[in-house]
Amino acid sequence: MILGVDYYPEHWDEARWPVDAQLMQEAGISVVRLAEFAWSKLEPREGDYQFAWLDRALGVLGERAIQAVLGTPTAAPPAWLIEKHPQVLPVDEWRRPLGFGARLHRCLANPTFRHYSRAITAAMAQHYAAHPSVLGWQTDNELTGNRCYCDVCAARFREWLERKYGSLDALNRAWGTPFWSQEYTAWTQVPLPWQTTCGPMAHNPSLLLDYRRFASDITVEFQHEQVEILREHCPEHFVTHNFMGLHDAINYYDLARDLDFVSWDNYPGGSAALPHDVMRGIQGENFWVMEEKCGHAGWNTMGPIPRPGQVRAWAWQAVGHGADAVVFFRWRSCRSGTEQFWQGILNHDAVPGRRYREIAQLGREFRQFAPDLEGTSPENDVALLYSYDQIWALQIQPQVPGFSLGLWLERYHQALHRLGVGADVVSTEADLSPYKLVIAPPLYLLDDALAARLDRYVAEGGHLVASARTGVKDGNNCAREETLPGPLARTLGIAVEDYDAIGQGGTNVVALADGARFKVSLWCDLLRLEGAKQVARYMRDFYEGVPAISVHNHGKGRAWYVGTVPEERFFRHFLRGIVEGLRLRMVPDLPKGVEVAARQGDRGRILVVTNLTPHKQVVHLQDACEDLFARAIVTEAIELHPFGVRLLRTTR
Ligand SMILES: [Zn+2]
Repeated sequence: MILGVDYYPEHWDEARWPVDAQLMQEAGISVVRLAEFAWSKLEPREGDYQFAWLDRALGVLGERAIQAVLGTPTAAPPAWLIEKHPQVLPVDEWRRPLGFGARLHRCLANPTFRHYSRAITAAMAQHYAAHPSVLGWQTDNELTGNRCYCDVCAARFREWLERKYGSLDALNRAWGTPFWSQEYTAWTQVPLPWQTTCGPMAHNPSLLLDYRRFASDITVEFQHEQVEILREHCPEHFVTHNFMGLHDAINYYDLARDLDFVSWDNYPGGSAALPHDVMRGIQGENFWVMEEKCGHAGWNTMGPIPRPGQVRAWAWQAVGHGADAVVFFRWRSCRSGTEQFWQGILNHDAVPGRRYREIAQLGREFRQFAPDLEGTSPENDVALLYSYDQIWALQIQPQVPGFSLGLWLERYHQALHRLGVGADVVSTEADLSPYKLVIAPPLYLLDDALAARLDRYVAEGGHLVASARTGVKDGNNCAREETLPGPLARTLGIAVEDYDAIGQGGTNVVALADGARFKVSLWCDLLRLEGAKQVARYMRDFYEGVPAISVHNHGKGRAWYVGTVPEERFFRHFLRGIVEGLRLRMVPDLPKGVEVAARQGDRGRILVVTNLTPHKQVVHLQDACEDLFARAIVTEAIELHPFGVRLLRTTR
């Protein structure tokens, strides 16, 4: 278990560095991330690399046994670069270039910018390859899809399309361009989705989806260049990147392919359980939190300060979900620039206070329990499917306002969470065979290959929950021809005869066989059962009595279909029945705001129980557990202080 902090020595007088390093060591901090925005300090003039200051900082930290992750500083290009090469500035959808003055003022496709990115990366990699304090690298900072609309991007997009489709005929067929006379006869005719070219109309949804894929690929390619250089010069170092949880403007599965592990920046608003699970699922491995909130966040205005114990609870929650390192952002609130009010472990005055003491407590706990947690990782019976293509296609055409993949994912995940059932969030490409239950939010884009894999999974004994708006489109974002749910109709044993987009203002009610009733909104599929059984029927409107939710025995398994968007409490009721039927591990009846996450190891499971509320809470256990903090056996109810944490070992 690693406790770390993001540190900006270049913001402070060197005389302060040894004091900072000593305080860090005393708090149990053993890793710092450095330099990810320090380009103007590392290369103040073109080709004039200045590493002496960073060498001295690493030396001061090294004397306190603190090691470093170095960031390539390419998220903040210096003023001299922009003055000399203004063409590297990104262009927005109205074809306006961004200027110098904040950060991210670069187009990642621009060959001139690529040249400077490679040069600074190579210079740093060569200089630090053998440095005893450097553990590894973070590429850039919080990369996102390069949704730039410059001329370079337009040319690269056309090349990307040519590689993908091979011919204009194929592209015209895939995109259905006879609509509105959009057939292309030369690659140069294909636009980027500029706002200036479509005015109040909308671009072709097929073009919009391919543009998002392209923009993601450009960023992946940009990072790949840096990773190649780092691997060449620093084969002993790890390479990671700080992802952003539920951020969805880039395909994180692709971005992670070049990396040793995923790390991410966690600034919890609500529960961070879902983003932690999404992040772990990107590679299916434990991860780092590279920026963990330790005070209030703020640029020009501020939010509430974390309550006593809350920072510690967030950190343990991260560990429960698979974090092997928690690196806090940032060491000390900075005195200048945009993020002056983003609170560090220390305030501007650098006097250690409550948050410092809390993190030092965490440092002692991480050291104490590292042997117990070593080699453990979350292992779950349930998978939720996740896909950037699905997210993007539903962002382009949300069906009704408020309908999104995220809405479904959150409802399913939160219901499982309240039932104390851990879930992996995995790619639609993932191997599903380890899972007893697979829950699929809308598979709006459904190709035959994915449908066949899901069908086989169920036929061979798996359990699948599918959702409304499944099987609507092909991979090119054109509607499929079959009756919905398209290629999954046989698996689900239903036909969607018609649908009613009732929207956010519309409501209906569904009734289950056990008498339970739930409000539904947004969307109502009208099902015809073709082998499936009814789980719930509509209570209102002209489709009163028509099935809304179904279940089908298919091969050795079962498949449910939820054809409407029920209120939150439905999901807990519905999934509880399934989870109990399958006898999956659960800790039912958890109080709201209390969560149980589990890490599996050779010596049993370690349950990380966190109370994320400012109130005392009681959790009822199903089995006897060893309380690792108290070194005692607990058998029934355990009490948690406000923002309290327990580590429980169970052999079950
Ligand atoms: Zn561009």
